[in-house]
Amino acid sequence: MSISDHHPRHGSARLSADAMVDLVETVIAGDLPPIVTAGHPVLRTPAQEFDGQLDDDLLGRLIACMRSVMHAAPGVGLAGPQIAVPLRIAVLEDQGAGDDAVAAARSRRPLPFTALVNPSYRASGDAMAAFYEGCLSVPGYQAVVERHHAVEATYTQPDGVSTTRIFEGWPARIVQHETDHLNGRLYLDRALLRSLSADREHGRWAQPTVEEARRGLGF
Ligand code: ZN
Repeated sequence: MSISDHHPRHGSARLSADAMVDLVETVIAGDLPPIVTAGHPVLRTPAQEFDGQLDDDLLGRLIACMRSVMHAAPGVGLAGPQIAVPLRIAVLEDQGAGDDAVAAARSRRPLPFTALVNPSYRASGDAMAAFYEGCLSVPGYQAVVERHHAVEATYTQPDGVSTTRIFEGWPARIVQHETDHLNGRLYLDRALLRSLSADREHGRWAQPTVEEARRGLGF
C-alpha cells in the first residue's frame, strides 16, 4: 500500500456559471469525451442543479454530445457526471430488446430519445422488478438491481417545459439508474452483490428472468 502525500480535492466545489460554461466547452470540444469510471469523484458528488448556467445553444450542444457518447458506447442512458460534467442532465434512448421473450419479461419496449434536466422520481405503485443491469462507468460487470417497476419522473425538457411523466418497465429502470447518477449514486450501491457477474460469465444468465442466476449464485 502506498500513501500519497498529495490529496487533490475534486468535484465538491460548486462551479460558477462562467466556470461551468468553460468546463462544458472544454469537454465537448473535439472528439467525443471519454466516459469516466468508478473511482472518479465526479461520480460520487451530487450534480449541480441546471439553472441556466448554459445558454440554449451550449445546452443543445452538450445534450447532442451526450447522445453521441451514449450511442458510441453503446448504452441506453448517460448522465452528465459520466463525462465529468457535474450538471443534473441525463439522456435516455433504447431500441428495446431484440428477443421477444426478453422484451416481454423485462417490459423492455423502445424508448425514444429523451433528455432530462433536473430530474427526480418517485415510485408509481408498489411493484418491484429485479433484473441484471450494467453501467458504462463500471465496465466489465453486471449485477441484479431491484428497482421500482414504474416511476413518476418530474423534470424539465431542454426547451424549458416542466414535465411529469410515468415510466414503466425498462424505461423506468433507465430513469432510476440515470437519476441516481445525478445524486452521486452508482447501481452497485443498490445491487444484490452476490449476483455480480463479469461480462465473460454473464452469458450464462441471459435468460429473460434472473431465476436461474438466483439459484446458481445464491442471491
Ligand atoms: Zn450508469
